Amino acid sequence: MSPAMPENLQPCDLVVFVAHPDDAELTSGGLLLVSRNKGWKTAVVEMTRGELGTRGTPEIRARECEAAARVLGLTVRANLGFPDGGVRDSDDARRAVVRTIRALRPRVVVAPPWNDDHHPDHLGTGDLLRKSFYLSGIRKFVSELDPHRPRALVHYMGTRVRRPTFVVDVSSVMEERRAAVACHASQVGPPGPGEPPTRIGHPDFLSAVDARLKHYGWMIGVPYGEPFTMDTPFPVTDLVGLLEIDPWRRR
Ligand SMILES: [Zn+2]
Repeated sequence: MSPAMPENLQPCDLVVFVAHPDDAELTSGGLLLVSRNKGWKTAVVEMTRGELGTRGTPEIRARECEAAARVLGLTVRANLGFPDGGVRDSDDARRAVVRTIRALRPRVVVAPPWNDDHHPDHLGTGDLLRKSFYLSGIRKFVSELDPHRPRALVHYMGTRVRRPTFVVDVSSVMEERRAAVACHASQVGPPGPGEPPTRIGHPDFLSAVDARLKHYGWMIGVPYGEPFTMDTPFPVTDLVGLLEIDPWRRR
């Protein structure tokens, strides 16, 4: 299967690839907001429309994505239309992701974990991005588009905990982050009459998300933090300048 390319792609600085319509807000919403606030152009690309979701429909979820994109201040939000439950590495999938990266020309790509999560689509997307990230810089692969090699591939933290490579201070954007998550009411809102219980529809889910961000924030001495991993060393030219956060001093 070769999904159609979205038409609204334009250069962005930071691109978060995810499997499902609500994944970006739940895992990287703070990073997207603080990056936007620094003046960077941000994008979210979903692999699927989430049609296997226990609750909601692809149409409802697309509207929720539009609303959340406004809260996050995204420059681009796109959906590659892969089948929900079937995101995995293949030649066609690599070509679709490489085309997307080359159209967006990001400095930084964020992807799901490829080895630590409960959901096969998250793992599939993470694995596909690892392969496509490299291929995007290969001139003779999809040779009709100019190659592009982003500076870094970063993985957000999945549901199986790994040691983070770095934690982003998202304390200043928690209100907007929560508002962006709340846009996905068909998923995180209370179940309607007759709807079955779900993991992320559980009344404790949103407070668990906050608690997790609190946990990682405390590790770096700020109220809330989003954890990320990298499989390569973090490149540094100015170690002193990089460490701008004075921990455990509420500002
Ligand atoms: Zn998901």
